[in-house]
Amino acid sequence: MTKRTRIIEGTWNCTSCDTRDILARHKRCPTCNNPRELTGQESEFDFGDVDAESGRSLREGVTDEKVLEIAAAGEDWFCAYCGAANRGDTPKCKHCGGERTPDAKKATLQDLERDEARLPPEVPVKPPPPKRRLATAVVVAVFFGIIAFAVWATRTRELEGEVTGTSWERAVVQERFAPVTKTGWEDELRVVNTRMPVNGGGEVAGVGNVRDCVSRQRGTRKVADGTERVCRTKSRRVACGTEEKCRRRDRGNGFAEETCESVTKYCSESYEDCQNETRYRNEPVYARQCSYDTYEWKPVDRREARGQDDAPRWPELVVGPQDRQRREEKYAVRIHYQRKGDQEHVHQPTNERDFLSWRKGQGVRLTVTNMGTVKKVAPR
Ligand SMILES: [Zn+2]
Ligand SMILES: [Zn+2]
Repeated sequence: MTKRTRIIEGTWNCTSCDTRDILARHKRCPTCNNPRELTGQESEFDFGDVDAESGRSLREGVTDEKVLEIAAAGEDWFCAYCGAANRGDTPKCKHCGGERTPDAKKATLQDLERDEARLPPEVPVKPPPPKRRLATAVVVAVFFGIIAFAVWATRTRELEGEVTGTSWERAVVQERFAPVTKTGWEDELRVVNTRMPVNGGGEVAGVGNVRDCVSRQRGTRKVADGTERVCRTKSRRVACGTEEKCRRRDRGNGFAEETCESVTKYCSESYEDCQNETRYRNEPVYARQCSYDTYEWKPVDRREARGQDDAPRWPELVVGPQDRQRREEKYAVRIHYQRKGDQEHVHQPTNERDFLSWRKGQGVRLTVTNMGTVKKVAPR
């Protein structure tokens, strides 16, 4: 890599007569003869704009031998007596003749790197915006709000109520072990002898007379069906020649040293990433399906009974020796209580014993959540 160095001459503005863009080689204003001083505006030099890509100064480099000698004289110093700027290699003030004393002020160097740091554009690291903090606070508040609500909603209190009525429904279903024809997959069928029930139990359904087997689709399976080439467009960074990058350094006397060098340039290149992938298809699976004889319980008769505010009873049904009985029962206890007005809760006992512990007009203690859900009822 080759380095190229140039000297860039800065310009300053006179605050005494407002002359602008005075070349740095002049330590005094060419218009009013006032010396450059270490005051805010006069102490800073303008080195002009740089090229956005390379950071190369848009100003011409200095070629004049005399001016290059000024640029090489070191940092300026400011006279402790009159404040005028002087060349770094002079021991006396050119303006007032005063000696260069140890308390003579030095030039303030400008950070020209900062200008170049903008290229390539810098991504500033921002602290998380206050908006996100607010969002977090809202999420936390909602979270604790939900917990507080859940605690409140599950809190219960006791209420007094009264049974306004009871009702029951009962049914007896007569079932018979009857022959039936079913279908099944041949490899799952094993011939088993049927055993008929005795007193409604001990039966075996059995499998017999397997017949009429036909081939049927039982399901599907995935099978490999060759390969196919699948390509995806991806991008990668590759070297694509060189580009010029320049940096400037303030010499503290109105001149800046610019160093440019060629660096490898990287470009984004898209390419096809191809791979062989297995292709699959669904293939039907066949098996033999057969008819067979077996037995199952079938309802043949049903008797029902219902009542209100009385003791439940089973309906009458005469059952043969090969049949069986199945019983169904359903109970309801209506309870009236006060909570923000008249309320009715229907308690459903699962057995006769529970149902018989309730009577019309009886007092009830209800456990109710703040949301109004009845959790428990008990006779009082
Ligand atoms: Zn002036
Ligand atoms: Zn002086």
